Amino acid sequence: MLTATTTSRLSGLHCSRCRTPHEAARLHTVSACCAAPLLADYDLSTAPPRSALAGREASMWRYHELLPLQDEAHRVSLGEGMTPLLPLPRLAARYGLRAVQLKDEGQNPTGSFKARGLSMAVSMARELGAAGCIIPTAGNAGVALAAYCARAGLPATVVMPRHTPAAFQEECRWYGAEVELVDGLINDCAARVRQLNVAGQLLDVSTLKEPYRIEGKKTMGYELAEQNDWRLPDVILYPAGGGTGLIGIWKALREMQALGWLPREAKLPRMVAVQAQSCCPLVETLAGRQPDCRHYQGRPTIANGLAVPRPLGEALMLQVLAESNGTALAISDEDMLTGMRELARLEGLFVAPEGAAVWMAARQLLTAGWLRPDEDILLLNTGSAQKYLANVQGRHAD
Ligand SMILES: *Cc1c(COP(=O)(O)O)cnc(C)c1O
Ligand SMILES: [Zn+2]
Repeated sequence: MLTATTTSRLSGLHCSRCRTPHEAARLHTVSACCAAPLLADYDLSTAPPRSALAGREASMWRYHELLPLQDEAHRVSLGEGMTPLLPLPRLAARYGLRAVQLKDEGQNPTGSFKARGLSMAVSMARELGAAGCIIPTAGNAGVALAAYCARAGLPATVVMPRHTPAAFQEECRWYGAEVELVDGLINDCAARVRQLNVAGQLLDVSTLKEPYRIEGKKTMGYELAEQNDWRLPDVILYPAGGGTGLIGIWKALREMQALGWLPREAKLPRMVAVQAQSCCPLVETLAGRQPDCRHYQGRPTIANGLAVPRPLGEALMLQVLAESNGTALAISDEDMLTGMRELARLEGLFVAPEGAAVWMAARQLLTAGWLRPDEDILLLNTGSAQKYLANVQGRHAD
C-alpha cells in the first residue's frame, strides 16, 4: 500500500536473467522464473533534478526517490553512507600518480559498507512484514544485519565460518543475534541457512537472494558522482565477493544517466573486480579456465569478505566488467598486508585487507600498463581493519 509519505519512484522488480516483471509490494527472494537475482526499477521520469539534493541529510537516504522504501516510518538507519572521499597525496607522490582517491566505507556504522545494504534490506523487511532475518556471511554482513535487526526490533540469525575472527562473532552476540558457526566458507553457511529456514519463516538476506541490499549498496555510486561534482573517475577498483557493490555502483551510474544527473554520453569508468588469490572465481571464469563458478573451490583468505567461491551474481558481475571495459585480478594475502602497511603509514588509514587488495591491484595494473599514472583512480575501501586483528596482528612491519 502506498502512503502519503511515499517519495520512492520504485515501479517494480524484474528478473535479471529474462526480465520477467515481479510485483514490488511483497517479500521476494530470487526470481520465480529463473531463480536469478531480482533488480528494482524506478520511474525515473518523475524523479527530481540533482539540484534537489542540496541541503539534504548526509546519509545514503538523501537519494530516497531512488530507493525502494515506501513509508519513511519504516526506515531503519544508523547514519550509513555519505562516507568521505579522501585524496591520497602521499601515496600519489610515492607512486607518481596524478589523482588517486579512496572512498572510506570503513567509516560506516559497524565498520563496513555492508551497513548500506543491510539498512535497506532490514527497512524493507520491516515494511513488508518479515518476522525476522537470517544470513550466511563471511563476517561484516552478519554484524550489520545483527545491528539493524536490533534497531528494528526483529530477530536475527547469523551463520558464519568458524574461522571468522572472534570480533565479528562477538559483536553479533552483543546485538542479540543468534550466531551459528560452520566449518567451511560462506557457501557452506548458505547450506546451513537453508536447513535452519526450511519453513521459510525468516527472510533470507543472502547477497542478491533478495532485491534490496543492492539498492543500498548502489548509493556508493550516487555519492561518488555527487562528491566529485558529477565528474566520474576513469577507473573504479572494487573488492568483489558476492559483487553487490560492483553491480550496484554500475546500476547507479546507468540510473544517473537516465535521470539526466549525468550526461547521457558521459564516459563511464572502467570497473575492476579485485579478488583474493585463494578465492578468485571471477578471475578464473574471465580467463576461460572454467565455464562459470558453479564448481569453484575456494580457500580462506585474510580478506574474509572475498572468500565467496560461488557468487550468485557472477553473470551480472561479468556483464559489468564487459560493458565497462573493465577487468578482474587476484591479490595474495602477503600483498594485502603490504598494502595495509602502505595505507596506514602513508595516509593514516587502517583499511580492511579487502581495501588493501584494491590498492595493490592498482599497483599491478599500473605496472602492466592497463592503468596510466595520469588517470583518475578511485579505490573503494569497503571496511575498517579493526575486526580483522586476529588475521593481521603483529604484521605492521615486514
Ligand atoms: C562483503 C565484503 C566485500 C565484498 O562485497 P560484495 O558486495 O560481496 O562483493 C568486500 N569487502 C568487505 C570489507 C566486505 O565486508
Ligand atoms: Zn527469469
